[in-house]
Amino acid sequence: MIIRARVVVTMDGPPIENGAVAVSGDRIVDVGKFSEISKQHSTEEVVNLDDQALLPGLINAHCHLDYTCLRGKIPRLESFTDWIRAINAEKAKLSVADYVASINEGFAEATRFGTTMIANLTAFPELISRIEPPIRTWWFAELIDVRNPGLGKEVVDLAVEKLKSAEHWGLAPHAPFTASANLYRRCEEIARREDILRTTHLAESHEEMSMFRDASGSLYDFLKQIGRDMADCGRNTPLSQFTEIVRDSSASRLRPATARQALGMTDRWMVVHLNELTESDFDMLKGSTTKFSIVHCPRSHEYFEHSPFQFEKFGEFGINVCLGTDSLASNEDLSLFAEMRVFQKKFPNVSAEEILKMVTTNSARALRQENSLGRIRSGFVADLIAIPIARHSESVLRRTRSTSVFEQIIGFARPVSRSMIGGGVQANPSP
Ligand SMILES: [Zn+2]
Repeated sequence: MIIRARVVVTMDGPPIENGAVAVSGDRIVDVGKFSEISKQHSTEEVVNLDDQALLPGLINAHCHLDYTCLRGKIPRLESFTDWIRAINAEKAKLSVADYVASINEGFAEATRFGTTMIANLTAFPELISRIEPPIRTWWFAELIDVRNPGLGKEVVDLAVEKLKSAEHWGLAPHAPFTASANLYRRCEEIARREDILRTTHLAESHEEMSMFRDASGSLYDFLKQIGRDMADCGRNTPLSQFTEIVRDSSASRLRPATARQALGMTDRWMVVHLNELTESDFDMLKGSTTKFSIVHCPRSHEYFEHSPFQFEKFGEFGINVCLGTDSLASNEDLSLFAEMRVFQKKFPNVSAEEILKMVTTNSARALRQENSLGRIRSGFVADLIAIPIARHSESVLRRTRSTSVFEQIIGFARPVSRSMIGGGVQANPSP
């Protein structure tokens, strides 16, 4: 099949006007000008999208589809700890059937908004076998043992059994304030054995900083009250607390050669948030040779009014940054286009093309799929989306060229018109 489009945005070179992509099976076999592609693949059926832009499917690097049904249920609260209390109260009202419906509804919505791959955290890995995702899905079990002290290893092992029904899976120790050092260590043991990805929430709120660094604040008080052992508080920032745990778990095999490598995290870690960092944290990140990925969730960040995200600094340190939606308990929909717009509002100096990378090439890299997904390139998997694009005269196109295409993509605020996963067309992703 040849898909012809007004512009093919490959994320692998400049956009191609009057371009075409040849697809065979689940793969892209050629990409270029329509005039050339149609000559080289003259027997192929042509699908004409002449008023549209064709681009790689978007990749959501962090979400929790469990909570799709909590959209609009939790008003903006002053404190992150109060939000945790509120979501716990909402979760207590939900049945297994509610969660299955919520996850399915989330998948349908993400697909409508052009997402073709998703890193989804679930607190219920036992539900994975009951769900058929319409898009490429990395299932991460969200692991918490704060209410089951001493059972970290069991919590992880039980989840791993359930995760194995998924094609792609990883582990998500929730956060250093809800997952014990033992739970993190067990995740590291399994991850090394199975060569899997890990993700965790880290340094999200100032209350998390107060808890670990100063042994005070509302999160400290709340967790102490529910019986968490608070002996690890009053010493470290959340980042140093986390790196200490991860480094210790790998110390026997991978003792860092120098302090510069001391982070201990591998490129198989996707660290979510990193809003609250001290100067010493930045020094540690700057000096580290470890290249993990950071997932930023712009609208969830805005909802909680967290400290400004230090995008420029992470870029200087060579850290891969990608975007996620987080859950609808702190966001209004699952559109990555809307995430890009909020990011652009906060960082007007970052080009639209760089922003689009954060939901294509960068998130593919975070999920270790940079050699098969996130670009339109011969040999890559055919995960593609199409969106309507305004018609410009040739001279306007020449003058404004790529910027206008990328700006139009980021400005797109409707369901996508077409979506293809692995060469298979999602007939009509729009409702
Ligand atoms: Zn999250």
